[in-house]
Amino acid sequence: MDADVIVVGAGLAGLVATAELADAGRRVLLLDQEPEASLGGQAHWSFGGLFLVDSPEQRRLGVRDSHELAWQDWLGTAGFDRDEDHWPRRWAEAYVDFAATEKRSWLHSQGLRFFPLVQWAERGGALATGHGNSVPRFHITWGTGPGVLEPFLRRVRAAEERGLVSIRCRHRVTGLSTSAGAVDGVRGEVLEPSDVSRGEPSSRAVAGEFDLRAQAVVVTSGGIGGNLPLVRENWPSWLGAPPQRMIAGVPDHVDGLLQGVVGETGGRIINSDRMWHYTEGIRNYAPVWTEHGIRILPGPSSFWIDARGERLPQPLFPGTDTLATLAHINRTGHEHTWFVLNRRIITREFALSGSEQNPDLTGRSVGEVLRRGGEVTPPPVAEFVRRGSDFVTRRTLPELVRGMNELVGEDLIDPARLERDIRARDREVASGLGKDAQVNLIREARRYPVDRMVRVAPPHELLDPAAGPLIAVRLSLLTRKTLGGVETDLDARVLGEGGEPLPGLYAAGEVAGFGGGGMHGYRSLEGTFLGGCLFSGRTAGRAAARATA
Ligand SMILES: Cc1cc2nc3c(=O)[nH]c(=O)nc-3n(C[C@H](O)[C@H](O)[C@H](O)COP(=O)(O)OP(=O)(O)OC[C@H]3O[C@@H](n4cnc5c(N)ncnc54)[C@H](O)[C@@H]3O)c2cc1C
Repeated sequence: MDADVIVVGAGLAGLVATAELADAGRRVLLLDQEPEASLGGQAHWSFGGLFLVDSPEQRRLGVRDSHELAWQDWLGTAGFDRDEDHWPRRWAEAYVDFAATEKRSWLHSQGLRFFPLVQWAERGGALATGHGNSVPRFHITWGTGPGVLEPFLRRVRAAEERGLVSIRCRHRVTGLSTSAGAVDGVRGEVLEPSDVSRGEPSSRAVAGEFDLRAQAVVVTSGGIGGNLPLVRENWPSWLGAPPQRMIAGVPDHVDGLLQGVVGETGGRIINSDRMWHYTEGIRNYAPVWTEHGIRILPGPSSFWIDARGERLPQPLFPGTDTLATLAHINRTGHEHTWFVLNRRIITREFALSGSEQNPDLTGRSVGEVLRRGGEVTPPPVAEFVRRGSDFVTRRTLPELVRGMNELVGEDLIDPARLERDIRARDREVASGLGKDAQVNLIREARRYPVDRMVRVAPPHELLDPAAGPLIAVRLSLLTRKTLGGVETDLDARVLGEGGEPLPGLYAAGEVAGFGGGGMHGYRSLEGTFLGGCLFSGRTAGRAAARATA
């Protein structure tokens, strides 16, 4: 035996599983196809937002959350409706329990801290039993994604020093070995050394082979979002034809190939047509990975129009319902949409997802963070306005529309019609009351102190020259999370076609749909992915440690 347990994939889920295994005294081989520079996988790039329920941070802000309310929101959002949802639903129940109880104290005891202003993502916009967070639950980690990884990297490095963990980079697993019906190892290719920086695509040239044995294997290889052909192949038929043009919200290593290997070994892959992609993607002017896109985390005020200039229908306002918006856009016959806004809105409401786009929070700089919500556009956003290929800035609306049409190379937007619609919206603002659902959503959002302080611009007329210049942002579909995956039971054991565990094989993190093969169902409440990796990685590590005692 080369180790007690082999963990494949050194992202967040793999690091958590490894840390737990080592704490239980197991000898672990942690394999990853990427070079050492990319250790931590997607979590490093993440915004570090975590879904917590009834936390001290929420209570301090006067938010009254509860386990019952969170479960109501989860069920309304997930929309479980298949036989395959048995384990996903049980994982969801266990996860919401975790988020309402132990999650915060477990992380806190390892040194993780939260930014005190809890954010309100995926607000929904229909009925109490429908999609969305009834209250703000998105807790940003102080230090963002790298801050989430920190305690687990520390534990794994300490175990490495004790001789319990060996990390082998450039080891790409292509097969699982079995004997007497149990998984007992992995085989694959040693890739040639690579000195690319974190997140950059690395060479796939093969320099050798390996064959390693252990009592158990934990697969934590991530989702499929960096593999655009695979995303198209799995595209849900109920969303229509897969988009031709997508940008990638994840690095190239999120290739989904190991999921296929688990399937070939007898593991059941379920809910492959469930994915969580964003409709507010912009091209990165300084790409790190292939087709690198960034997601705008929008406040509610931008005027959202489709490619032909038609306003998106209620309740599809920014930040309300990602999947319903995606379904709507797919029916318009065009793949892009536009935010039309002004300087006042962009300054207050635009945030960009990702650790590198939030140097103040990532660098834990109190002074920098205090500038948020002021009169100055955050520097990473200002840089996109200046250099991003999707931004048009002009003084007047006719000029703006001319710039938008030039950008797409077609006169798709009629300036007179857009002006009519924006002026109608502006009249509703001026009325002080009004019937426009988006204007009312903005007013409603400002009842939450955090939104009023730093996130939502006071309602004002979009065409008010004092709030200008006007800005238009072309939005593309950005791939990100894989919601379905390898079916697992509550011990993270991989299940076969007949529902029986495959001895020796465990899966956690995004490859397992964050638990069970899809604990989110069709949609997410946000901040639930890192949390899903923490919870399922911990579960898999502890279960594999028990099984190999
Ligand atoms: C920009 C960005 C922002 C995000 N923000 C948030 C947020 O605020 N909140 C939230 O909850 N989630 C967020 N997420 C999502 C979250 O970061 C991911 O879902 C999560 O980190 C996935 O972790 P993982 O360990 O399952 O997989 P990964 O991080 O993808 O790691 C998998 C690892 O497996 C390796 N691997 C794959 N195949 C093989 C193979 N065949 N052989 C060997 N190694 C292999 C890969 O190289 C990789 O290192 C964000 C993601 C991104 C990219």
